[in-house]
Amino acid sequence: RFITLEGGEGAGKSTQIRALAAALRARGITVVETREPGGSEGAEAIRTLLLTGGADRWSARAEALLFAAARADHVEKTIRPALARGAWVISDRFLDSSRAYQGQGELTDADIVALHRIGSEGFLPDRTLLLNVGLSEANERTRKRDGELTDRIGGRNIEFHRGVSRAFAHMARDEPARFRIIDATGSPDAVTARLLPQLFDLLP
Ligand code: C5P
Repeated sequence: RFITLEGGEGAGKSTQIRALAAALRARGITVVETREPGGSEGAEAIRTLLLTGGADRWSARAEALLFAAARADHVEKTIRPALARGAWVISDRFLDSSRAYQGQGELTDADIVALHRIGSEGFLPDRTLLLNVGLSEANERTRKRDGELTDRIGGRNIEFHRGVSRAFAHMARDEPARFRIIDATGSPDAVTARLLPQLFDLLP
């Protein structure tokens, strides 16, 4: 099974992916934890290109293409082989992050999805867990982590992040079979306890 965790900055995705992987391993499942941008050697190299050099390094179109290229390599080199071995794969971000972030650049949602069809044969998760926290709580959490309200690419304002959460909410509404919206407020353990039941129908 291929599971993705999505959400904005400070939603707790990286904490929850570790906890969820541990819970699945306790059930005897082999789990590969991975992330975007990155998750394969080539995609990690692209990640460095994307996250260094400042907000204005890439044009909006080039940024979308780089994310799609990184994802193509990630799918082919890491995700598909792990699934073929019978492992579960959990990714911290995937296509839906591109729809939410790069979808606010010059490309439409249909463009982003088309890039994904070309790059990754339209490969989709079996389930996407959308971690939901309000923007003010997300700000609190990222301020603790990064020392200031920002994302790692930088230069994006609160309006951008509002647009990101709106985009995620639309996707979840449009694809209810794939998405589950998770209340990501409260303690990490409380959030983890909300995640596992959303995968029960996929368990062996
Ligand atoms: O998830 P993480 O915080 O590690 O993501 C790294 C950075 O890349 C974040 O600033 C995030 O906003 C950005 N990003 C993006 N588009 C994506 C995925 C991540 O702009 N598709």
